[in-house]
Amino acid sequence: MPQAPKAICNDLVQLGRPARQEPRQVNLPVEMGSTIVFDTLAKFEAARDDRYQSGTLYYGRYGNTASFQLEAMLATLEQADSVTLTSSGVAAITMSLMAVCAPGKHLLVADHVYGNTRGFCDGVLTRMGIEIEYFDPMLGAAIAEKFRDTTCAVMFEAPGSGTFEMPDIPAITTAARNAGILTILDGTWATPIFCQPLTLGVDVVVASMSKYLSGHSDCMMGMIASRGDIGTQIRKTTFAFGDKTGSQEVFLALRGLRTLKMRMEHFDKAGREIATWLAGQPQVKTVLHPAFNTCPGHANWRRNFTGAAGLFGVVFHPCPDERIRAFVDALHHFGIGVSWGGYESLVLPVKPVRAATPWTETGQLVRFNIGLEDLDSLKADLAAALPLLTP
Ligand SMILES: *Cc1c(COP(=O)(O)O)cnc(C)c1O
Repeated sequence: MPQAPKAICNDLVQLGRPARQEPRQVNLPVEMGSTIVFDTLAKFEAARDDRYQSGTLYYGRYGNTASFQLEAMLATLEQADSVTLTSSGVAAITMSLMAVCAPGKHLLVADHVYGNTRGFCDGVLTRMGIEIEYFDPMLGAAIAEKFRDTTCAVMFEAPGSGTFEMPDIPAITTAARNAGILTILDGTWATPIFCQPLTLGVDVVVASMSKYLSGHSDCMMGMIASRGDIGTQIRKTTFAFGDKTGSQEVFLALRGLRTLKMRMEHFDKAGREIATWLAGQPQVKTVLHPAFNTCPGHANWRRNFTGAAGLFGVVFHPCPDERIRAFVDALHHFGIGVSWGGYESLVLPVKPVRAATPWTETGQLVRFNIGLEDLDSLKADLAAALPLLTP
């Protein structure tokens, strides 16, 4: 069952900081440190034996008090048995894939995944002798037909962060579970405020904390949340590679998380309002926003999500690239850049890369991230630039 929003509100305030004692700092300090020393060799050895356990102070690379607090907070938010922090969202993806893949194995990857997930699969995993097969993200239960004896995992995203198809999460996890295959879901878009994928049968959730979770474009971090035994394998793999989060980043992530619920509620409302307004403009062909019935998988979103993020796509009627470029350049409130989930609105033209399901849309796809600006100002900005698409 999804966690009650009331509990999440209190968790965001109460977790991830010092235990109640008087007097106390409200927040944990930035905790710098490499070597941790012990009074006896026996205590040192006990810590070394337990070093893969979140909460065991052993050496800075394995975590510190603040990073363990953050892992515990995220475990509650995601309803996970285990959470491992990583140095970036990409590292969360690559570490979890390295934990489950081996030479000779077959990995199913949704065709709409984040570009760097694709890059890692095609560039690194293929070289290591892992067979990558891309599948239509809208397959649902029919994914079972793709399973082989060698299939180790299904990697997917909800929704695709470029093209926004929303997969049927329970259909995929049920099929995979019946076949003994692990599922890994990139849940960066929804955050645990709008969906807790582990409660839908997903084994491993990865997220870029550089996006909404930290929320202020000042922090690079990732997290891997899981249920069952796989958490230990993921943690060992992550530590084997020497991947680690910075202490300053842990502080920033904890600070950003405090306001996650209210930010997500704003982005939900603001994103839908701007998307609705855009859908009414003559230059717009369709809106790819999971809360709109024009988005593939809208019914899946309605069934399994309690809200929508402020990141969505707009397909403009076909026009030359130069017009799209002029339109994007003319916007004042929308920064042009990758990443999203901060307080500032962003815009980026998207050219989908596909293997299993050709992208046949002839209109121009542009992705919008709605920030915290005044909505009338955003509409006025868009209204002034839209005529550049239709001379
Ligand atoms: C940005 C992003 C990532 C990668 O996160 P970084 O923190 O930038 O490494 C992974 N998945 C999705 C869906 C993203 O949008």
